[in-house]
Amino acid sequence: MAKVLVFIDNPGDSLKKSSLELLTLGRSLGETAVALNGKLHDDVAATFGEYGVGAVLLPSAEDLDDFLVAPKAAYVAAAAEQLGATIVLLDNSPEGKEIAARAGIRLNAGVITDVVAVDADGTAHKSVLAGSYNTACKASTAVSVLTVKANNVVPEPAAAPTPLETVTVEVPAASTAAAARITAREQKVASGRPDLTDARIVVAGGRGLDGDFGPVEELADALGAAVGASRAATDAGWISHDAQVGQTGKTVSPQLYISAGISGAIQQKAGMQTAKVIVAVNKDAESPVFEIADFGIVGDLFNVLPQATAEIKKRKG
Ligand SMILES: Cc1cc2nc3c(=O)[nH]c(=O)nc-3n(C[C@H](O)[C@H](O)[C@H](O)COP(=O)(O)OP(=O)(O)OC[C@H]3O[C@@H](n4cnc5c(N)ncnc54)[C@H](O)[C@@H]3O)c2cc1C
Repeated sequence: MAKVLVFIDNPGDSLKKSSLELLTLGRSLGETAVALNGKLHDDVAATFGEYGVGAVLLPSAEDLDDFLVAPKAAYVAAAAEQLGATIVLLDNSPEGKEIAARAGIRLNAGVITDVVAVDADGTAHKSVLAGSYNTACKASTAVSVLTVKANNVVPEPAAAPTPLETVTVEVPAASTAAAARITAREQKVASGRPDLTDARIVVAGGRGLDGDFGPVEELADALGAAVGASRAATDAGWISHDAQVGQTGKTVSPQLYISAGISGAIQQKAGMQTAKVIVAVNKDAESPVFEIADFGIVGDLFNVLPQATAEIKKRKG
């Protein structure tokens, strides 16, 4: 049975949905262990057991967060070697990809990024060219390192919980000697809204907002939703680049995606077309977004969104 190592970085006291997806995928491929960076909280340990994780590997050094990714990559590689893992799974964030690349060199492993599914024999599937083609690829090396896009696996606990073993992994001292050290950190202001990639509902706005994200934010707050945006809106500086949905932004797969003042270019669709229900608000009836919308409202978003917000608030009481 293949040995699978899943890297999870600083989960705090609960695992994100994307981590649960990695654990579920790992279990479908073989015997799963986790290389954890950060403290192992009791609730997280319990969830690992529920998801069939047999071992948690912890780094010998506690200061990995004082550096950029180099020591984390050295740790992941050392953990994979210690475990004898043939598959290493990481999240598909920019940091996840960089750790994967560096760990891949240390492990002499093939690295595949932007993975959406993995077969039992290790063949990875990717959705490319803005979702218009699917490709399959397999590393020809003994170890493969895969970064997996969120929202492509349904998280599922194992049939029976597994007892959890904890193991320490020696982090190569040389990996911190020449690594870039973080000298200061600034806390990002919390929006109080759900994380965009994990949210059940996303309300996204585009160039049609003309710089005013107020109606989108008010509707999002009435629904308990995350706020997303097209690249036109983020490039214009109306909202942070973190909110961008699409080919060069985040991939979301919520139960409900409300698109307001977005034309629905192929690069935008690439990040949201797997949403269960898509509602589009656009004043142009010919806009391509209506081709993928389940419900379309042809109208001015500055009229439509506030009415929807008021009605939702009224019904919620
Ligand atoms: C390599 C590459 C990568 C890209 N990556 C991404 C990506 O990740 N994400 C992304 O989104 N784009 C991406 N793009 C850009 C993409 O091609 C489009 O340019 C962009 O999505 C357009 O954003 P938009 O729909 O907000 O603007 P527009 O295309 O200008 O559309 C605005 C829409 O708002 C409507 N509108 C205007 N006023 C109102 C109103 N008052 N009420 C209702 N509707 C109104 C208009 O009818 C129009 O349909 C990428 C492009 C390239 C080349």
